[in-house]
Amino acid sequence: MERFVYADNAATTRISEPVFQAMIPFLTEKYGNASSLYGLGRDSRRALEAAREKTAKALGAESREIYFTSCGSESDNWAIKSAALSMAPKGKKHIVTTVFEHHAVLHTCQALERQGFEVDYLPIEPNGIVSLERLCKAIRPDTALVSIMYANNEIGTIQPIPEIGQICKDKDVIFHTDAVQAVGAIPIHVKEQNIDMLSLSAHKFHGPKGVGALYIRKGLSIPNFIDGGGQERGRRAGTENNAYIVGLGVAIELACSAIEEKNARISTMRDKLISELLKIPYTRLNGDPIKRLPGNVNISFEGIEGESLLLMLDSKGICGSSGSACTSGSLDPSHVLLSIGLKHEAAHGSLRLSLSDLNTEEDINYILEQLPPIVQKLRNMSPIWEKIQKEERN
Ligand code: PLP
Repeated sequence: MERFVYADNAATTRISEPVFQAMIPFLTEKYGNASSLYGLGRDSRRALEAAREKTAKALGAESREIYFTSCGSESDNWAIKSAALSMAPKGKKHIVTTVFEHHAVLHTCQALERQGFEVDYLPIEPNGIVSLERLCKAIRPDTALVSIMYANNEIGTIQPIPEIGQICKDKDVIFHTDAVQAVGAIPIHVKEQNIDMLSLSAHKFHGPKGVGALYIRKGLSIPNFIDGGGQERGRRAGTENNAYIVGLGVAIELACSAIEEKNARISTMRDKLISELLKIPYTRLNGDPIKRLPGNVNISFEGIEGESLLLMLDSKGICGSSGSACTSGSLDPSHVLLSIGLKHEAAHGSLRLSLSDLNTEEDINYILEQLPPIVQKLRNMSPIWEKIQKEERN
């Protein structure tokens, strides 16, 4: 029987019903501007501050350290550009990041390079984890900022964030982490983990698209991102997107409650997918098998084209994503997969399936029923597959 299986939760997630219900009043009768003094405005303000409290609680932060933004990309831009600008007058114009960050970080760093900043892009170890030794060596007296993602969006590997935070603290360097994939998926405590700034985005944990947040540790002197009115403590002006912020608050509270039980269920499904798919010959798992997000599966199938695989899965009602940067209109293999040492062909034949708590055991069984014959069919049509097998025989 054909099903619809959404297994691309790293791209975005479905808004959950409680989130949607909480947003509706703020799109209809509760339309007041949170800066207005009358009751309608005060209702909006109260809801906004309640969402800020929920966000702070989920991260182990204080409410006044949370600033709402329009998305994860904006949070990354604000954190990195503002930290760099604030440190430049002190002669600190060096930034350390990694080669496998999201483009919201990589392109921001490249923009700063064009403005005279120097950026070191740390390589990634073959298991998809950054080396602490390399990080220590890269930090210099003029380093302004270290920006390293919490968990990778393609291969799901979780970085040693508390240790990175400690190194930055000891060396008096600002530490920003892009936690867009990690929030709601693994427990985070910014204070215990020595994080100075953290980016998140609601649509990755069953909240709405187009709303995010940046945690900025109190005491950190970071320039405003949007000048204008006094919203977000004057640091990010613009009338607040109340309904979406309320949605973010409910989504983060739900995503971070009972996280261990939720993860036990998701990672059981993930591990079943991984172990069964690895039984297909000429496949490899990308990224560390243990230090990875509970819902992330990333597998390369030799001899096939990821795009064709996605289209055939789509025809069976399965949504996943591939290791090609098709979103950019090019078919360049993913920079993340190349960073862990994959050859172009292997990167092209990669599939990411990302699960959420909405997935079920039946979804997993359906994927396992449909995927192996599709891989076989594509291999049978592929000239590269023939070559791979000939090489094996010789
Ligand atoms: N950072 C990471 C790791 C992501 O996965 C994404 C989205 O895919 C972003 C940043 C950008 O977030 P947004 O889509 O909210 O701009």
